[in-house]
Amino acid sequence: MSTVISKARAMIPVARPFLGVEEEQGVLEVLRSGWVTQGPRVAEFERKFARFVGCEHAIAVSSCTTALQLSLWASGIGPGDEVICPSLSFIATANAIKCLGATPVFADIDASTYNIDPEVIEGLISPRTKAILAVHQMGLPAELNALQEIAIANKLKLIEDAACAIGASFHGEMIGKPVGDIACFSFHPRKIMTTGEGGMITTQNPELAARMSRLRQHAMSLSDVARHNSRQVALETYDEVGFNFRMTDMQAAVGIAQLDRLSTVLVRRRLLAKRYTTALNHLSWLQTPRIPTYSDHNYQSYMVLLTVGTVADRDAMMQRLLEKGISTRRAIMAIHREKPYQSSVWEERLPRTNRISDAGIILPLFHEMSELDQDYVIDTVLEMQP
Ligand SMILES: *Cc1c(COP(=O)(O)O)cnc(C)c1O
Repeated sequence: MSTVISKARAMIPVARPFLGVEEEQGVLEVLRSGWVTQGPRVAEFERKFARFVGCEHAIAVSSCTTALQLSLWASGIGPGDEVICPSLSFIATANAIKCLGATPVFADIDASTYNIDPEVIEGLISPRTKAILAVHQMGLPAELNALQEIAIANKLKLIEDAACAIGASFHGEMIGKPVGDIACFSFHPRKIMTTGEGGMITTQNPELAARMSRLRQHAMSLSDVARHNSRQVALETYDEVGFNFRMTDMQAAVGIAQLDRLSTVLVRRRLLAKRYTTALNHLSWLQTPRIPTYSDHNYQSYMVLLTVGTVADRDAMMQRLLEKGISTRRAIMAIHREKPYQSSVWEERLPRTNRISDAGIILPLFHEMSELDQDYVIDTVLEMQP
């Protein structure tokens, strides 16, 4: 038994966070300081994050899901309103709309970038439409200029679900300096920088930033830091209904260390992605990612498409890869196929979303993946012709 185990190749995971002693040190300092929730480290993380993406304001929150909820709420979206978004996304995109009583209206995607197709949006706008929620899927920016043009012409908000897109850029500008109104990031361990759980909102609008910053802690008029530092008794007020979406200082300390590593991480991920593309792009039965010249992908996920076969063939290939010790994931989900969003209307209206969701396989890619392990994945895929 033991020899079998020792001979077995370690499973190659699809993703793995990259954490080091700097993160450990940061958390330890916070624990020893006695200030554990939103405080000085959160403020520092916000300043550094804003500087990194080139935006004026950054507001740390508990996740990207709560970032999206807060952004939609602060944009005045509520019951009866419609928000246009892609179905090819993690379900959080639609849940953030739905939980405010508004309705997600799904737009199909561009078949080469897998992002929301600006061409179909105008046909989906109704008198109830209030916003476009664009997703930079897997870390590849959506066509923001075209989306913002539509948003302005129709008096809609443009909010970016940039959960996957830290470090990606669009026409030379880092994602996070919003082309529209607001961008929302995730620090879930599946993303390329993590705080365990966590999120960040960025905006160039100072009033909106100040309001969202209050709303994340029940609209309290004074922050805890301001109260703590005040030499006079400071009495806060609560001028509207708010939330508890705070990030802790432990998480922020991890985030600061992760941000310091991000440039190195991006270089490594882009190198590994290029190795995959070089090795696989000649195959007639498989399509590698297509990157428009104006975008820089962060390769949070490296997804290939099977251009022949059915969804069963795709699943069988994932199973064979798993048996060879290679963990993969199915493509980005199609939200309209999950119970809360199912309808025959969507199934007919979203052919490209359905196709990508049925044919995509996400291959392993993470910072500490060795070239040797990657070559093993490549060789195994090359043997898999369906
Ligand atoms: C991961 C993800 C989210 C949710 O992020 P959390 O921080 O886990 O709430 C939202 N949208 C997209 C596109 C994502 O990939």
